[in-house]
Formats: sequence, C-alpha cells, structure tokens
Amino acid sequence: MEERSLNFIEQIVEKDLQEGKNDGRIQTRFPPEPNGYLHIGHVKAICMDFGIAERYNGVCNLRFDDTNPVKEDVEYVDSIQQDIAWLGFRWGNIYYASDYFQQLYDLAIRFIKEGKAYVDEQTAEQIAEQKGTPTEPGTGSPYRNRPVEENLRLFQAMQNGDVEDGKMVLRAKIDMANPNMHFRDPIMYRIITTHPHHRTGRRWNVYPMYDFAHGQSDYFEGVTHSICTLEFVVHRPLYDWFIDQFADSEYRPHQYEFNRLNITYTVMSKRKMLQLVKEGLVAGWDDPRMPTVCGLRRRGYSPQAIRTFIDKIGYTKVEGMIDLGLLEHTVREDLKETAPRVCAIFEPVKLVITNYEGDGEVVSADYIDGHPELGSREMPFARELYIERGDFQEEGSKDFYRLSPGGREVRLKSAYIIQATGCDKDTDGRITTVYATYDPTSKSGTEGGSRKTKSTINWVECRSCVEAEARLYDRLFAVENPSADERDFRELLNPDSLKVTTCLVESALKKEKKRLPVQNGVHEQHHYQFLKHGYFVVDPDSNDDKLVFNRTASLKDNWQK
Ligand code: ATP
Ligand code: MG
Repeated sequence: MEERSLNFIEQIVEKDLQEGKNDGRIQTRFPPEPNGYLHIGHVKAICMDFGIAERYNGVCNLRFDDTNPVKEDVEYVDSIQQDIAWLGFRWGNIYYASDYFQQLYDLAIRFIKEGKAYVDEQTAEQIAEQKGTPTEPGTGSPYRNRPVEENLRLFQAMQNGDVEDGKMVLRAKIDMANPNMHFRDPIMYRIITTHPHHRTGRRWNVYPMYDFAHGQSDYFEGVTHSICTLEFVVHRPLYDWFIDQFADSEYRPHQYEFNRLNITYTVMSKRKMLQLVKEGLVAGWDDPRMPTVCGLRRRGYSPQAIRTFIDKIGYTKVEGMIDLGLLEHTVREDLKETAPRVCAIFEPVKLVITNYEGDGEVVSADYIDGHPELGSREMPFARELYIERGDFQEEGSKDFYRLSPGGREVRLKSAYIIQATGCDKDTDGRITTVYATYDPTSKSGTEGGSRKTKSTINWVECRSCVEAEARLYDRLFAVENPSADERDFRELLNPDSLKVTTCLVESALKKEKKRLPVQNGVHEQHHYQFLKHGYFVVDPDSNDDKLVFNRTASLKDNWQK
C-alpha cells in the first residue's frame, strides 16, 4: 500500500511516544456492543484502533461492551470476531465489560459511601424534566440528599431483585447546574431483570450505564488511547471525572474522537439495520445490499477493497457524508487487477456459423488478456453459440459496429472473426437465430489472430454453457440521506435494489457449481468479471444443482449523470 500522511491521531500518538508517555506503551481497544453485526462504519473504527496498535508496536484488545442484556447476544459476539479476523486484524485479548461487573459494582458502593452517588426513585420522565437546558440549570432530585445508609440499602435491594425494572436508578451526585449536561447527575446503574445476560446469566439485576462502564474498563485494562467517534466529545469530561474519583496512580487513559463514517444511499445504524432484517425488508444481516461487513463480503467486496476505502476517506474532526460512488469505485479498482474475465450472456440469441465444420475444438484464453500468469481456461467452440441479442441488428447502421448482415467483420472474443449473413424470425418478428460465416485463418493466438476488427463480442458454446442465476444489486435506498428525511426510512427503500435474472456462463464456471468452501466461519470469495456486464461473485447459495452469482459492481458508475 502506498504511504500516506499521518492522520491526526497518529500524530498525537507519535508525540506521546516522543515524550515518553506511558513508558512508550501503546494500547487501544475496539469496543463493540454485541447487539448487531459490524457495519462499514465500525470498520473505520477498527482500522483506526487496530491500525494504531500495529503501526506503533502496541496492542489492540477486543472488548465487548455488553452492558445491556436486552439487546445483546452471542450470535453477535461470534460474528464480530469473524468479521474482524476476515478483515485481517489480530487482537491481543478478548475482554468483556461484563468481566468488570463485580469491580464496577464495588466501585459504585464506594461512590455511595463517599457521598458521590444516590438512589433515585423518580421516573425517567421526571428525571428528564429536571435536567434543565444547556443555558438553564437543572433541579435536584428530591432523593438527592438521602443518607448513605439508605442508598446502600436501596442499591443492594436493586441488585437483589427486590425492585422492579425502571423503579429506581443509581445516579452520580455531581452538579445539576454544570454547563455540560452530562454532569447533571448522570445515571450510573439501572435495573434489568427481564433478560438474562449472555455471559453472566441471572447473576446481576443491575447493569452499569455506558458512561460508568467505558472509561473504567479502559482504566482497568491499561488502555492508553481510547479512540471513538465525535458524539463522545461531550462525554469526555465525565469520562475523565469518573476515573479521577478512584484512580490510584498517575496513569490515565485518554479519549480521542474522529468523525463517524456516513455513506449516501444507506443507513449506518445497527438499530435501523436490525429493523430491516426483522421486518424482512432485506434477506438478512448479510444481504448483499446491507452496509454490514458480512453483507459487503457476500456482495463481493474483498477485505483489501474495504480497507483501501477507509484509507482513502481518512479521519477528521468534522462530520460529513461520503459518496457511495467512492466505495463502488474502490471495489472496481480492486477487482480490476485480479478478477478473471469470463463470458456470460444475459439475453441470448443463437448464432450458427454455417461454414464451420469443426468438432470438439477448444480455444484457449487467458483469464486476463496479456496476463497468462493469472491463469487461463479452455472454451469449447462449435458451430452453434449463444451471443447477446443486442450484438446483432438486422438493419444495421453506420455507427453499429457489431453483427449485421453484409456488415462488418466482428471478432468472437478469443476465437474467430465472423460476418453475419442473415437471421430467422418467429411469427412475432422476434429473431430466433443469427447466421454467420467465419474466417478459419483468423483464430486468436495464431498469425491471423492479430487482425483487428472494430468490435469484439462475447459468446458461449450452446452445449457446454451453464445456466446461472444472477442477482443484480443496486443501492438500498432511493434517497441520498435516508436518516435526514422526515419520512420513515423504511419508506425510502429503492424498489429496484434487487433484480433476479438468469444468464448463460461459459463452461469453465461449472467448477463453481458446489458449496463454497468456508474458512473460520466465513465463505470464500470467488470473483469474476463478466465481460461487458460487471463484477460478479459466487453466492453461497450455489450448490451442485444451481449456480448463483451476485453482482458486486457494474463496470462503470451508472449513476453518474
Ligand atoms: P450503531 O449506532 O450502529 O449502533 P454504535 O456506535 O452504537 O453504532 P458500537 O458497537 O457501540 O456501535 O461501536 C463500537 C465502536 O465503533 C465505537 O467506538 C464507535 O464509535 C465505532 N463506530 C460505530 N459506528 C461508527 C461509524 N459510523 N463510523 C465510525 N466509527 C463508528
Ligand atoms: Mg453504541
């Protein structure tokens, strides 16, 4: 990969290293909540967190922020690990916020004893009403000055399961007039008894809130650079404050923030993606239209293409929106180098070469012209072929360079030069067969093969070609920014985001008629370029009976006006 300039966080890390901070130790973490599959926004954070550790000989741990059993599941824990490994990153350790539930609980007790936390019995609405506004101070809860003993007893009751969900919370007692709203007695703990936790089962009835869990977890683990997205800038003073209350050393983790990734014509929120999946508006988390890592994988994006894209967009401190076209451009550039080129005919019409007498001939063709080192295959050639209907015109015209009776010479890709002589039609006037003659001296790869024609057309041999299902994907949403629209995002889906059709592919692709191999829980990607049609990847739905391809990207950006 070409060397790029340092991003602003790398600059900070280099400065810290020069100044000998943390004895030269670099430790980051990637902290997903296991409540959904990873999306390409997460990949931006992953490339940052793991990238910093790799670049500066540090370590990046994977930490599951599993503090809300209502939404979390092991299915997500597993998929997150698979996706990170598939992207090519290696974590140091795997931790869970739930590893620290006891430590955090003990810390909460300490806060209560030091008069820094109290049990509030108000409803969520009452608490919200008292918060004030950024310019007006809030009002203290009537429970704010409870004696320590009572707070200890009630917090214990919350944990014992003696209090109903939502009836009490533990709040930090900080400052109801602080201009930073996050300091106005933030909630530290809530009660959740409705769902068992995927790791701790029924052991806990109280669960720490993000603000009380995240910074502490960073501190317990020895994180040096805690990198997240810009919406956490306003949380940072509280992050520091909580740690300052109990830290018993000079060491402090520091939080840094960069801009979230947003991409046009899609949504970048697990909550919304879950809705699409649950309501059957897409085929699953790995639907090739989804911006999830597994969706992009099934669509045919390689890890390298995704990482190159993240590298291209870079990291800043201002929110913005990235054009989906850039992501598609990146995958085209990636596949251009390596995807084998093959013939696939989408609207077939039969071509009969009337002067061809051969039998059992094969033409040999490199998968990528001029690159024999990238492999080649043999294509059976015969008197009867299928070509694209659009490659023949009965009338022809001055600027139609393909087949037309009495018209120009046209080369069959990697084979012979032919000239159309006529066609048959059915009673509706629809062309059923095209006739042509070939020049036996013009075979590609022979001396006559260098003769130039104005155009080359694709073909497959009738008896050996294979029928395949082609799933043609397009952008998921019809509007550029579904999240900023006043209509419900589910009404904004692009009705043409999937077209299922069939095509005839050359016999070399018979080898894909089987189950795709799976490695580390992830299916392999077998990429192709269907000449003139786009980049395609074998779908895991393929088996001995059927062959299914997903269109990864068209050859050109069809949306560019
Ligand atoms: P979502 O809103 O989709 O649920 P999240 O931020 O709640 O996302 P987490 O699992 O908490 O998801 O995120 C783990 C890490 O990934 C966090 O550090 C978060 O900042 C980062 N992250 C999430 N979404 C994006 C994004 N769109 N761009 C960059 N980083 C992101
Ligand atoms: Mg989150």
